[in-house]
Amino acid sequence: MRTIVYTCPYVPAEWIAAHGLRPSRVMPDSVGSVFSLAGREGVCPYVRGFIAEVTKNDRGGAVVVTTVCDQMRRAFDIVTRKCELPAFLMNVPNTWQSAAVQELYTDELRRLGRFLIRHGGKSPSNDALAAIMLEYDIARTSIFAARERLSAREYAERIAAFGRDGPSSSCVLRDASCVERNTQYAIRNTRYVPLAIIGGPLMKQEFRIFDIVAESGGRIVLDATETGERGMCAPLDAEGLREDPLSKLARAYFGGIQDVSRRPDSELYDWFEEKLTERAVRGIIFRRYVWCDMWHAELGRLKDLIDLPVLDIDTAGDFESEENRTAGRIGAFMEMLQ
Ligand code: SF4
Repeated sequence: MRTIVYTCPYVPAEWIAAHGLRPSRVMPDSVGSVFSLAGREGVCPYVRGFIAEVTKNDRGGAVVVTTVCDQMRRAFDIVTRKCELPAFLMNVPNTWQSAAVQELYTDELRRLGRFLIRHGGKSPSNDALAAIMLEYDIARTSIFAARERLSAREYAERIAAFGRDGPSSSCVLRDASCVERNTQYAIRNTRYVPLAIIGGPLMKQEFRIFDIVAESGGRIVLDATETGERGMCAPLDAEGLREDPLSKLARAYFGGIQDVSRRPDSELYDWFEEKLTERAVRGIIFRRYVWCDMWHAELGRLKDLIDLPVLDIDTAGDFESEENRTAGRIGAFMEMLQ
């Protein structure tokens, strides 16, 4: 089965799977980011890592890139020039308030479907798409349900594994020893400072941040990075699903994922504030890549709108060389909160 690689959360895995192809949301390695074809100056480290991952991906049958930011558009240009894989640029509108915009997104899914058929996929029936959507929705619900029984890092890794491998990866409720181990973990760790992390997507090595926070007496109870909960679509509305599953899918993704690329991005803050309150968060780690103008511009707005201490950590993408500095800053932040 051919693998379709992508990274943007607005690409619905269910749509690719329903075409008989294997969706895989790649998580770049920061090593690739350092040695990417994209050069370093001015290029978002995540974009560099993504390009490196795609160009070395020999399992890939095609790649899907979206227009959520200018740097990703640039990534598409580089991938089409430097890489043999067929590539598709999916337009994801920045505005979201009107039904017409939602229809535009749905049309892009149809266009993506035609691309997938040209590259080995089969046109899905409504029943087939609906069945896959239900399967993914159950897997997602099971991951969410396991949050408190997993360490913050394991929870983040489950979400990443789900993006990479689909529902087959979500052994959350089936793996009894894991549940037992993590129930013990939760019992031992009731006295922690609850934190949130928000920002763009994380690269593989950056999952160390969850450990660093735990080692400093905190716990990330809300992973609002793009690779975390914030990048998961809304729960499926299963009523009448078989009649028009594609519109339901578009609603769950385009209407359900809140991102900084949205204009306006007020719903991102509504979502974030609700979760901060629900989980009694006491401080926020703001994680951003250097050369990401979009998240950089958001820092001031976040500080204005949310009345919690914020630790701004920027990264050039080389986590290993930055780890000590990051740990020191998180440690100082935790001392202030304790
Ligand atoms: S981190 Fe910023 S520049 Fe990088 S891909 Fe995301 S939005 Fe684009």
